[in-house]
Amino acid sequence: MTIMSDDILTIDRLADWLEAFEAAVTEQRAWLTELDSAIGDADHGANMARGMAAVTAKLEQGRPATVDELFKAVGMTLVSSVGGASGPLYGTLFLRMGMAAGAVPSLDGSALAAALRAGLDGIVARGKAEAGDKTMFDAIAPAIDAMDASIAAGVSLADATRAAADAAAAGRDATLPLVARKGRASYLGERSAGHLDPGAASAAILFETLAETVSRT
Ligand code: ADP
Ligand code: MG
Repeated sequence: MTIMSDDILTIDRLADWLEAFEAAVTEQRAWLTELDSAIGDADHGANMARGMAAVTAKLEQGRPATVDELFKAVGMTLVSSVGGASGPLYGTLFLRMGMAAGAVPSLDGSALAAALRAGLDGIVARGKAEAGDKTMFDAIAPAIDAMDASIAAGVSLADATRAAADAAAAGRDATLPLVARKGRASYLGERSAGHLDPGAASAAILFETLAETVSRT
C-alpha cells in the first residue's frame, strides 16, 4: 500500500493541530467552565485555555525537530501550567505519546494511533479511570478504537481521524446520564447524572481539531 504525503503528520501539521486545539478551547472556554460548574469547580475552561496558551507560547519560542521532543514539551508545559486534575492527565497523555512516537520527524496513521493508545494508557495509570466512570476516558477510548478500526480497514488518515472525532463526540454525549466515579464530580454521587463531563467535552475538541487539521492541510 502506498502512503500518500497527505497521510503523514509532520511536526508542522502536529503543531497546527495543537494551535487549533488552543484556539478551540479558548473559544469554548465558557462552555467548558459551565459544564464544570455543574459537577465540578468551574475551572475546566480556564485550565484548558491557560494550559494550551502556555503550549503555543512555548512552541513559538522554537519548534522541536522530532515528535518525541514536541509532545514532551507539550506534556511538560501542561503539567506545569495547569493546577487542576486535567493538567497532569492531559500532560501524561502527551508525555506518553512522545515516548511511544520516538525521535521521528513525522507520524503516519498507525504511529499516531499507537501513540494515542500509549497516552491513554498513561491517563489510566495515573487516574485509574475505567469506561463509564464519566471522565475524559469515555471520549478518548472510543476515539482511539475508531481510529484503529479505520486504519485496519485501510482508509485515509482524514477518514480515520474523522471517525475518531465522531466517536469522541458520541462518547462525550454518552457521559450525560452517567454517575461520576472519578474526580471531583464523583463527590456529587447521583447528582452528577444529567450533565456532560467537562473533560470528555475537551477531549472531544482535541479529536475534532485533529480531524479538521488533517482534512485542511
Ligand atoms: P479539577 O477536577 O481538578 O477541577 P478540571 O476541572 O480541569 O480539574 O478537569 C476535570 C476533568 O478531569 C473531569 O471532567 C474528568 O474528565 C477529568 N478527570 C478527573 N479525574 C480523572 C481521572 N481519575 N481519570 C480520568 N479523568 C479524570
Ligand atoms: Mg474543575
